[in-house]
Amino acid sequence: MKKIGAVFSVIAAVALIAFIAWDAVFNESASKSFFAMDTVISAQITGRNAEDILSETEKCVSELDSSLSRHDPDSEISLLNRNSGGMLSDRLGGYFRILLDVSKKSGGTFDFTLGAVSDLWSFGSSPKLPDEAELKKALSESGYEKASLSGNSLVIGGGVIDFGAVGKGIALDEIRDILEKNNVGEAVISVGGSVLLYGNKTAKVGIRSPFGDSGSSIATLSLSDVCISTSGSYERKFEENGKAYHHIINPETGYPVENGLVSVTVISDSGILSDALSTACFVLGKEKGIALAEEYGCDAVFIDENKNITVTEGIHGLVEVTDSSYSLVAYEK
Ligand code: ADP
Ligand code: MG
Repeated sequence: MKKIGAVFSVIAAVALIAFIAWDAVFNESASKSFFAMDTVISAQITGRNAEDILSETEKCVSELDSSLSRHDPDSEISLLNRNSGGMLSDRLGGYFRILLDVSKKSGGTFDFTLGAVSDLWSFGSSPKLPDEAELKKALSESGYEKASLSGNSLVIGGGVIDFGAVGKGIALDEIRDILEKNNVGEAVISVGGSVLLYGNKTAKVGIRSPFGDSGSSIATLSLSDVCISTSGSYERKFEENGKAYHHIINPETGYPVENGLVSVTVISDSGILSDALSTACFVLGKEKGIALAEEYGCDAVFIDENKNITVTEGIHGLVEVTDSSYSLVAYEK
């Protein structure tokens, strides 16, 4: 009897060790921060081979950065800009289809051909008020409606293609492909103002103070398995003669949008959509922006200069305001 008891103890001990080892293998967790796409990228991955997947993630983002940057003369985008279009890979063709769709549905308030207009503001280096005549010229030459896509053949009718509004969201989509391929359990990836919550675990994502007055968040969103992108007038801005200018451009005027909004957050299954729509909805303003987000089946959070936080119906109850100087407005149709 004693012998059988001892055998059972050994089996139990072996099973326990195996379980602990198994758990350690499958719940390996690793995190990393690095700089690319002109921003900080943080990745936290739980699953087998987390370290290797982090390296693959970093490589993916840096390759994407070189291929989408309009300032890198060797990038795919620069080649298209030089040749006024060209034959696209399936991947890039898919992105352009989405950008054309958002441009159309937003009535041109989202416009991916404003590269020359943005360059005149020099937001990437030393921002300044552009020369009026130069701005008018760059604006008249640009326009998404001059571009066409037939199959994967792109023709650019004018302007300079700029993926500034969507590069970070695209990075999330490509990282999600890596996580799926590697059967990752859970991950949280942030690429500047765009975040991917991967897996079924609910996490709280903070919305940054839109007045740039603190690094802390003013509200949280409890979500799982989605992409969340924020566009804010606080991101890249400067003051001249007592007036503030930021980097989200109204394509009708060439000047920064002034509609009382300070930040827009969009939630979508797709990274490129959440990123494109956060910019589009910012330009459109609250009412029309909500209509556009809902047309795409997305939820959104609009914050205005009076510290009102307006949230769409799908996320009523998922938003918690953590800064009492803000008021929550539940939007209903
Ligand atoms: P961030 O890059 O700070 O995350 P956004 O996603 O809102 O912010 O993108 C802003 C960038 O998009 C600008 O820096 C510029 O490159 C580009 N952009 C500005 N205005 C527009 C617009 N109306 N439509 C499309 N892209 C725009
Ligand atoms: Mg955006």
